[in-house]
Amino acid sequence: MDALNLGKLPGKTQYAGRRRSTTRRSGFNSHPDSTGGEFKVDQVPALRLKKGEVFEITLYMPGHMPGDFLGFGGWFQADQSTEVVISAPGFKKGTLTAPENGNWSKFGSFKVADGAPVPPIHIKFIANEDSYIAIYEVGCGIVSHKHLEWASTESPVLLKNMHDFCPETNFFAVDGEVVIDYEVDNETQLDIFLKSCNRCARFLPINISNERHILSFTNHCVADHRRPCSHGGFGKLKNLDTGEVIQLDYGYQLECRFCKKFEVNAPHNCQRTPDQMKEDGTRRRNLELLLTELYEESPQLRYRHKYPGRELATDIWLKFDRKCFNCKVPIPDQRDMHLDHTRPLALLWPLDETATCLCGSCNSRKRDRSPVEFYTEKQLHELHVITNIPLDVLKNPGPNQEAIYKLLNSMDWFFGVFCQKPELQKVRDGKRTADLLIKSLQKTLNKSLPESRVNLLGYVNRR
Ligand SMILES: [Zn+2]
Ligand SMILES: [Zn+2]
Ligand SMILES: [Zn+2]
Repeated sequence: MDALNLGKLPGKTQYAGRRRSTTRRSGFNSHPDSTGGEFKVDQVPALRLKKGEVFEITLYMPGHMPGDFLGFGGWFQADQSTEVVISAPGFKKGTLTAPENGNWSKFGSFKVADGAPVPPIHIKFIANEDSYIAIYEVGCGIVSHKHLEWASTESPVLLKNMHDFCPETNFFAVDGEVVIDYEVDNETQLDIFLKSCNRCARFLPINISNERHILSFTNHCVADHRRPCSHGGFGKLKNLDTGEVIQLDYGYQLECRFCKKFEVNAPHNCQRTPDQMKEDGTRRRNLELLLTELYEESPQLRYRHKYPGRELATDIWLKFDRKCFNCKVPIPDQRDMHLDHTRPLALLWPLDETATCLCGSCNSRKRDRSPVEFYTEKQLHELHVITNIPLDVLKNPGPNQEAIYKLLNSMDWFFGVFCQKPELQKVRDGKRTADLLIKSLQKTLNKSLPESRVNLLGYVNRR
């Protein structure tokens, strides 16, 4: 918890002029063997507010690109008479749970940067009566997580309510600044209970006195007849430091809300609507088309030119022994094979000799996931041997820099000709297909080498 390491600072000036500007992968403690059933207790200093006093936090976002994820938020405890006012221009919706004596509350928001500057964010705690305030892990910055990156191209609908999952979604890759100016005038320490998540291994705040005042974990047993939750790990938590076991009433899920959303709910929820499937198909087709035009020939033709007398599909089928690489089901007829890009199409990797042979069902489950999100360690190794893609690239595929340079060298053609094609000018759900494509390309550029991190939207506006 290095965000605002209040516990270790001396009394008087704990909150005074705290200005923080660091790069931090994750501010949260984590434990590699987390089962979700562990907890620990930290102490957070609280300061007294007299009636009428205001405690204010100002957050400054770091420099960022359109398409980056921006988040802010944190946990706090205050008297329930405290009024909390958040001013965050540009963030349409957010999370704010009411203050409650003896329990922690939370606030925060999340959005995809649209290129407009983000003014400072102000969080004011106004004491309507004599009150107190303590804050924990307040931060802001550029958020990055493989699930969010995946969702942005593969299932954008999942990102629509991310503001509801703050602050637990805020995996900060680049920190903004947190500025608090206040003199602590007493030494009161408040306990904060932190519970492990069995997926991300972070320790995140929970409430013990009112378990229904949920923070980053939802309850396990809610119905009267099921309480107290007698499930090990859910209703019984073990203190990581002392071994003491506590019994909860409602209990909490093993996964934090973020992990539950992406690792438990989303994979079982393959009921993508026909509209989403269609949008997906259109996006993939347009990316394939763009690559074909940038490389000036189709993958099949390019392969024939490179290896005269040979066919891409046949060679891949034979190389994978006429079996689905993932589930090993035999594919006796080559026409039943599905060619997978191996490295994501969204990162502008065309179909080539590194393609993977999959059956229809594995191909539709893999979609545009990167190999590391879909295959086991053993499979990745096997795939590396068959495709010759280095293992570290398979594990962390960056964008296809060659295609990016081709694109950047043809910007006039891209905006003036390609994006003007009738199928790219189609509008669905109020969104122009070309705009969706530009958005997806922007995300790819943001991950590319510094010299090619161009602002496409800026380019559109200049034209
Ligand atoms: Zn988690
Ligand atoms: Zn239970
Ligand atoms: Zn398969």
